[in-house]
Amino acid sequence: MELTEIAIASANKHKIREISEIFTGVTLLSMHDLGFDGEIEETGKNFRANAMIKAKAIAEKYNMPALADDSGLCVDGLNGAPGIYSARFSGEGEAANRKLLLKRLENVPDRHAHFECAVCLYMPDGHTYFGEGKTFGRILYEEIGTNGFGYDPLFYSDDLKKSFGLATEEEKNSVSHRFRALQDLKGKI
Ligand code: IMP
Repeated sequence: MELTEIAIASANKHKIREISEIFTGVTLLSMHDLGFDGEIEETGKNFRANAMIKAKAIAEKYNMPALADDSGLCVDGLNGAPGIYSARFSGEGEAANRKLLLKRLENVPDRHAHFECAVCLYMPDGHTYFGEGKTFGRILYEEIGTNGFGYDPLFYSDDLKKSFGLATEEEKNSVSHRFRALQDLKGKI
């Protein structure tokens, strides 16, 4: 399919840069470019549903293709938590989220975990395309490194054999759940 313009339903510059590296030759319009500063409530029960809610809202408002993602950390020993609640885990921001994760894992032996990402491209005629990606690893016992964001300093990557907190942006992007989800989507459109 020939796509010339896509609205990116995210205000996160980091994500927009990552998307632009994969969707080359397409004009990507950020929420800032479109003058959108509203909140879209993530009421879905899984990553796919939340990605679609965000993409649909923007595609319908601006009558153009819109791409959105939703992601989070799923820890095996916590039955997949925090999952879709990753950003809202503690209710007090990312540093508090990391502290709470370590606390919840204090007596839990299984620290295997993965980041998961779903992306949705929603067309103005209602057609949807999805991509999904995961990246596997373990939750460390303390924060290592300060690179990245969110849970990165607590995530030991099986692919990189080090904490995402020590990984360069290029290293992380080459194995990230978001990169894999975008690649998956690209292969489907
Ligand atoms: P969202 O997809 O922007 O809603 O992100 C959800 C939350 O998941 C973020 O606030 C982070 O806590 C966590 N998360 C998602 N992707 C990553 C990542 O690549 N590194 C670290 N934390 C992440």
